[in-house]
Amino acid sequence: MKLLTTPAEALEWSRRQHREGRTIGLVPTMGALHHGHLALVDDAAERTDSVCVSIFVNPLQFNEGADFDSYPRPIDEDLAACEKAGVDAVYAPTGRAMYSSAFETRVVPGTLAEQMEGAMRPGHFEGVTTVVTKLFTALRPDVAVFGQKDFQQLVIVRRLVADLDLGVEIIGHPIERDPDGLAMSSRNLRLTPEQRAAAVCVPRSLDAATAAARAGGTPDQVVQAAVDVVAAEPLARHEYTTVFDPRTLREVDQVTDGLRVATAVWFGDIRLIDNRDLT
Ligand code: AMP
Repeated sequence: MKLLTTPAEALEWSRRQHREGRTIGLVPTMGALHHGHLALVDDAAERTDSVCVSIFVNPLQFNEGADFDSYPRPIDEDLAACEKAGVDAVYAPTGRAMYSSAFETRVVPGTLAEQMEGAMRPGHFEGVTTVVTKLFTALRPDVAVFGQKDFQQLVIVRRLVADLDLGVEIIGHPIERDPDGLAMSSRNLRLTPEQRAAAVCVPRSLDAATAAARAGGTPDQVVQAAVDVVAAEPLARHEYTTVFDPRTLREVDQVTDGLRVATAVWFGDIRLIDNRDLT
């Protein structure tokens, strides 16, 4: 397994793969790899010849310095997990390799970045579109696999690729969950055992929302069903729940087929997100 640490090394590796006739699949991550990330790796491996996992905790997409500082960075375990998963290359650049002291160019997303996570985390998606553009430029992947866990990110990245003619096929991989239903996340590592037990209210709240939708509820009733489940959990603090159209990411005023529901819930200083199909 090759370890790449600068954009120049990444580009050289990419050119070699293409020169030798191999397609490249990229799985962008911020590390602290779990089974959810590794499922994306397997997905990429089924579609392409050479798989690269990028590991970079991108300062540009954190709107809270404390969240950036406390983000887990178990790089040795991550490299071992990639090796075991048969990854061909890991791209793990330093902050300075990605953003020189003169760095000032950004890729600015449009209205898709205004709702949900974008409304709660100003500047977050500009950080995402900027770093994804840099990763795609350095690694020139044929395919990139993203998780539906970050559903808004997936939609914004698809738009980015279409708008800027980046020529990368974007795959949206389904959400991988723990046996009790909690979506796997690097942030779960920071939950206390009590918070981890309480966090099951997040997927359960989305189950309640789905049940309310199936029973013919309005969007408000669907949201309220989710809010009630989270409100019953003393360790949880509800931030938002929204019923939205997966193409526009806009809130809807009527429940129809093909909609999704998304939520964000806090446990102490840890913020968890989840979403699912409503039907
Ligand atoms: P992160 O390291 O949190 O930035 O995630 C890297 C990629 O893995 C993103 O595309 C996420 O959507 C995806 N991902 C994270 N957790 C999961 C999960 N539980 N199921 C599926 N994809 C996930």
